Amino acid sequence: MPPMTPFILSSTAFVFILGAVVGSFLNVCIFRIPAGQSIVSPRSRCPRCETPIRWYQNIPLLSWLLLGGKCAHCKTPISWRYPFVELLTALLFAGIFLTFGFQPATPIYWIMAAILVTVTFIDLDHQIIPDVISLPGIVVGFLSSFFIPWMTWLDSLMGIIAGGGSLLLIALTYEFLTKKEGMGGGDIKLLAMLGAFLGWQAIFPVIFISSMVGTAVGILLIDRAALRPVPINYNLALARERLESGARRATLKLPRELDLKRGQFRAYLMVNLTPVMTLDL
Ligand SMILES: [Zn+2]
Repeated sequence: MPPMTPFILSSTAFVFILGAVVGSFLNVCIFRIPAGQSIVSPRSRCPRCETPIRWYQNIPLLSWLLLGGKCAHCKTPISWRYPFVELLTALLFAGIFLTFGFQPATPIYWIMAAILVTVTFIDLDHQIIPDVISLPGIVVGFLSSFFIPWMTWLDSLMGIIAGGGSLLLIALTYEFLTKKEGMGGGDIKLLAMLGAFLGWQAIFPVIFISSMVGTAVGILLIDRAALRPVPINYNLALARERLESGARRATLKLPRELDLKRGQFRAYLMVNLTPVMTLDL
């Protein structure tokens, strides 16, 4: 970390605010991309009373606090997740800036972090990782390798192959051994994207740390998961997905098993953010 001169301090404050603003945009992406809506228009509205949100009600972090977490018009509670995503993005942006300073790597890793935050929350809500995010992400990650001094384009290309390939191998082995689908294709493309951004050298640490964290979080969640009722929508979505993907037939799973899968999925999601933490390794 650089010494905390007034210049670095004010730059970090600026980066934090920039991160919060980007986080506010990510909230829009998280909400609209899975629904197939435009992320640029129309302006954000209250989901309940549909009153457009004015610019001064849309200041990241502050507005939520000033409005007391409620819509200014109909007083419907606004989820704490919105300011949380803004705060998380702001902290990640500031952390990356303090690690890499004024280098091309900083904005590149901001992009990667922003993608990971978006993917994490979409995956949490819908159990999908949209191709419209991960596929362009692979391209951006590859192109960015030309601007990062400690990486070559070959590292990036091999990262795409190693990232996508290793998960594909794990998924196929799992399917072969258990005759069940374990991992979605979305995860494979996401790891290929991470390989593009971080190079092949990062793939093993990312998988290793992710599975460690994933197992720990998974164990915690599975116990709690057994107590929760199963959302029926998820069951239906799963059945539809299986039919559409040409799977043998739609099987309705036992609630316990389903929730277990959800628990594992969530565990995987929380670890989606691990790559950002390993940047400094
Ligand atoms: Zn409202």
